[in-house]
Amino acid sequence: MATKKIKEEDQFSATAISKKLEGLFELQSVDSQIDKLQILRGELPLEVTDLESEIDKLNEHLKSQSDIDEQLNNSISSQEQKIEEANALIEKYNKQQMKVRNNREFDAINKELEFQGLEIELSNKKIKGVGSELEENAEKIKLIKAKIRTKKKHLKNKKSELDVIIKSTEKEEDKLTSKKKKLQKNIEDRLMSVYDNLRTVSKNGLAVVKVERNACGGCFSSITSQHHLNIKLRKDILFCENCGRILVPDDIDQK
Ligand SMILES: [Zn+2]
Repeated sequence: MATKKIKEEDQFSATAISKKLEGLFELQSVDSQIDKLQILRGELPLEVTDLESEIDKLNEHLKSQSDIDEQLNNSISSQEQKIEEANALIEKYNKQQMKVRNNREFDAINKELEFQGLEIELSNKKIKGVGSELEENAEKIKLIKAKIRTKKKHLKNKKSELDVIIKSTEKEEDKLTSKKKKLQKNIEDRLMSVYDNLRTVSKNGLAVVKVERNACGGCFSSITSQHHLNIKLRKDILFCENCGRILVPDDIDQK
């Protein structure tokens, strides 16, 4: 128990605080270097994801137009089927008409023949209508396909541009990332999450800044002399009262 207590106290000792601040500052400089490498990529990563989602949307559109195409073709097939059936009936009625015994039977069959003739006419009319819809739809499909081709070409170019940049900085970034991991291990979780939150909300990715000319190096607002003194003495993890960033003394990287 006794040793544990000493250890806890040790956590708040000047050297422990100093080490924490140094660790945080070092992590910040590694992160800033990684940020710089990523800035080199500019808008390219965003452009790539935008193009990818545009292509996805176009593919969905193409799929729905292709479904319409299928439906239209199906309705043509069913009309053709009807015509075939009507023709079969006409053939059957024609044969029956040869064997009629009276006018009444002849007239009845004639009516059926007329009816089937009208059915065929109607089906042909429907097929014609669907045909022009099919043509319109085919035109739409053609346009979508052309758009997809253009976007894909564009995407390929952007991706290769991005690849060139990534490859040129890959080794450096890997080195920095492994350095970052090592540094993170030595920082307690609570501080890490404070740091990560600060980095996400700050536009320039700075969570840890030096006090420069009595001002916060992040938002440049001035710092009271008492606060500055406490920071200089490394009394605790202290924050800028204006922007909330972690403040470190300007001699933090001088050993
Ligand atoms: Zn500030």
